[in-house]
Amino acid sequence: MNRSEQLFERAKNVIPGGVNSPVRAFQAVGGRPRFIAKAEKEMITDVDGNTYIDYIGSWGPMILGHNHPAIREAAMEAAGRGLSFGASCPAEVEMAELICQMVPSIELVRMVNSGTEAVMSALRVARGYTGKNKIIKFEGCYHGHCDSMLVKAGSGVMTSGVPDSAGVPEGCAKDTLTAVYNDADSVRSLFSQFPGEIAAVIVEPVAANMGVVVPKEGFLSELRRICDEEKALLIFDEVITGFRLGFDGAQGYYGVTPDLTTFGKIIGAGMPVGAYGGRREIMEMVSPVGSVYQAGTLSGNPVAMAAGLAQLHILKENPKIYEEMNAMGDYFRAELSQLVKTAGAPCRVTGVGSLSCLFFTGEEVVDYRSAKTSDVSAFADYFRYMLAHGIYVAPSQFEAIFLSSVHTKEDVDRTLTVIEDYWKEKAHR
Ligand SMILES: *Cc1c(COP(=O)(O)O)cnc(C)c1O
Repeated sequence: MNRSEQLFERAKNVIPGGVNSPVRAFQAVGGRPRFIAKAEKEMITDVDGNTYIDYIGSWGPMILGHNHPAIREAAMEAAGRGLSFGASCPAEVEMAELICQMVPSIELVRMVNSGTEAVMSALRVARGYTGKNKIIKFEGCYHGHCDSMLVKAGSGVMTSGVPDSAGVPEGCAKDTLTAVYNDADSVRSLFSQFPGEIAAVIVEPVAANMGVVVPKEGFLSELRRICDEEKALLIFDEVITGFRLGFDGAQGYYGVTPDLTTFGKIIGAGMPVGAYGGRREIMEMVSPVGSVYQAGTLSGNPVAMAAGLAQLHILKENPKIYEEMNAMGDYFRAELSQLVKTAGAPCRVTGVGSLSCLFFTGEEVVDYRSAKTSDVSAFADYFRYMLAHGIYVAPSQFEAIFLSSVHTKEDVDRTLTVIEDYWKEKAHR
């Protein structure tokens, strides 16, 4: 057994499934997870000394690459002044000012410790503000692991939610309604079935947890229109897209303004951070100003704020980063599409900006149903080949390929060559 295997055996004795988050377990692709010793820029090195080009980037936060010196130093400097105060610190104010300044839809913002917490809190605010209980989410969109969001449609649209996980009471799920991504009519139907009962529509403006599914032209603006008509709030879950598609996230990229926004991942630069914010009158519902309770012992933690701020400042001062990274994404998708065509592989390439996906299906992917037509065992085979050849992509078909600002054209070209070789070898098997 190599060291990763030894660690995994030890981990399984004391951690459920040996992992602290399920997708790390490699269950969908077979094999054993790699334990990581260190990461630098776009490269990640496991405890056995294998080095990979990393396309996960800690699932999004490492947009400037791993172990960025300015971010590391900011965190270390803050740590030198104390790890937590349980009282307000200057960095929290700076962080909130920066978010409000960069994202026009946000006038007040509250820091939390994860994306899950951000979503959970935003939903509570939406319910408190509107006085309504039901929430519409989209099949295949992931909003963290809070009870009410672990739901997909039991029998398609227009059914009340049934829990997708053991341990979630039906009562928690019954107010979650599920619509079809890229299908505004499915949202309208729910509003007409439950008039006056729906507090909010929550959506990943680019769905990046069922592979990457981009919004069709007009989909997001239609959601805006429906929510306005129905006096419901529109919540953009920008935990992945925030500060990734551009400084103002997907809302800036697509020009649609939500009422509330959730953040995570990039704003913490690898530290456990989330945030939710929106219009002043809505966010003034939050305690201690308003009647919606929400708290956190470690929220706005000084070390986490320092790391996040360092990352956001670099992004703000170098807007070219987005231009170049998104152009690299376009190049990658164009070349990959060409490879797919040449190989005659039944695959689809999707994505926007630095988020991409290679779906192992011949169908155009526009929603959860079409995403699920993917051949996951074909994906698993591809995944194992990539890993064996030094390319670390997410161990699941239904995750994004994340580019960072430090992935070079050489990295991308090498990756494309490995994929090309994979299809060549497969043809000869
Ligand atoms: C990752 C993610 C979450 C949950 O964030 P955690 O920090 O893992 O709790 C919520 N929404 C979206 C869109 C995400 O990608």
